Amino acid sequence: MSKGKIYLVGAGPGDAELITLKGYELIRRADVILHDHLIPMELLQLAGADAEIISVGKFASQHTMSQDQINALLIEKAADARIVVRLKGGDPFVFGRGGEEVEACAEAGIDFEVVPGVTSALAAPSYAGIPPTHRDFTPNIAIVTGHRKDKKEIEIPNAGTIVFLMGVANIQKIIDSLLKAGWPPQTKIAAVENGTRYNQRVITGTLENFVRTVQDANLGTPAIFIVGKVVGLHEKLNWYGRKPRVLVLGTHPEKYRHLGAIVHRPMVKCVGLEDYSNLDQVLKRLDTFDWLTFTSANGARFFFERLKRNGLDTRALSAMKVAAIGKTTARRLTAFGILADLIPDKESSAGLLEEFSVLEMRDKNVLLPQAEGASRELPEGLAALGAAVKEVPVYMTIEIEPADVDFEHIDKILFTSGSTARAFVKKFGQAPPHVKAYCLGLPTQAAARKYGIDAEIVPQQDNQEAREIE
Ligand code: SAH
Repeated sequence: MSKGKIYLVGAGPGDAELITLKGYELIRRADVILHDHLIPMELLQLAGADAEIISVGKFASQHTMSQDQINALLIEKAADARIVVRLKGGDPFVFGRGGEEVEACAEAGIDFEVVPGVTSALAAPSYAGIPPTHRDFTPNIAIVTGHRKDKKEIEIPNAGTIVFLMGVANIQKIIDSLLKAGWPPQTKIAAVENGTRYNQRVITGTLENFVRTVQDANLGTPAIFIVGKVVGLHEKLNWYGRKPRVLVLGTHPEKYRHLGAIVHRPMVKCVGLEDYSNLDQVLKRLDTFDWLTFTSANGARFFFERLKRNGLDTRALSAMKVAAIGKTTARRLTAFGILADLIPDKESSAGLLEEFSVLEMRDKNVLLPQAEGASRELPEGLAALGAAVKEVPVYMTIEIEPADVDFEHIDKILFTSGSTARAFVKKFGQAPPHVKAYCLGLPTQAAARKYGIDAEIVPQQDNQEAREIE
């Protein structure tokens, strides 16, 4: 018997946050992940650095691996890995061949568990504002494959709402089968393409003209079709379609959810420095400082990591007062046992300076652990108040290659730091004119302008924390 266990995990329909907590934890702990091409790829970033990640995805035209090969690989991996995650789009048992895969495990005597997922058959209607059941329209729903082995007929079950998966190439056949089964030609039908993803499209029509409609709209995959009276609710309930799509390039995209549907393409990543001799020197004379000021959660994280490396803990900071630029940073500090003495209401360098200006800062020693090359606004402002500022880099941001993004589906871009503006221009050039640029504060606005981007500052009340990383 092999020592490993196979977890067949549903990755959800596309919006990465629709994975279950159980699935999320398993991805983080997995030794090996075998995934399909329909999963939200962001989820793979949760995997540990040592995890082996294998794409076994199937595209309609191009089969990367046969089902037998996938089953064999799963079993092989379970022989010497502890946690093997088989990550599948939506729910693994809804048309995912998940059943066949765990049958192979059972036959090989390998331990397995199934973690259900949010299926696209239900999530795509939700995000299209089409409740598949509704007391006024239908008491039941059927989920049907539009793709049968060996050109078999598509069977139309007796239900008030029918959802078709894997039907894009077969839409003519689906409609013919529906008409043949007695559905009136005026019956409403919707296609939901890229359901729950930022580039979701909903196309509606009636059975009699729908083949033409989807051809004109150039419908692509993945898509589901929804047939029945409930489709009429789309216009009234189209909540997701009405959200602005906001491209966020920095870290912590969850902080900006109130601005719209977040499309996260991180372009920078925080990493440690190669040489910490500067910080190490400072850590030897912590008792000479009056204030320790953190301008980002990352700064706090790297500072405390290094403190520990030097054999020190929070007791070494007992003589200092601590300031945090905003709530996220302050929250991160609590993890190290620090309750910040000062958190400005206006969460920015300017906000911090306002608070400091009413304190007596003359000749006060301020330690400022920041990103390498951070903005000058805070140290200069503190110096102007008479403080002696010791800036010390504790981490740096490096550019990373983001996944592509379809700007046709983007309404706004949020620049969270000057470095995101620089990286954006390098990768994408200027954004198309319909896309509006935003930023969090004056330093980023100035940095963006340097790269030819005219960004408007997001109103403060819309912001939970005004600055993130530099
Ligand atoms: N197990 C998956 C379905 C796998 S079959 C689930 O539960 O969702 C693949 C089909 O799922 C596609 O042909 C398409 O019809 C549908 N599908 C998957 N993701 C989708 C998405 N984001 N939007 C629309 N349809 C999707």
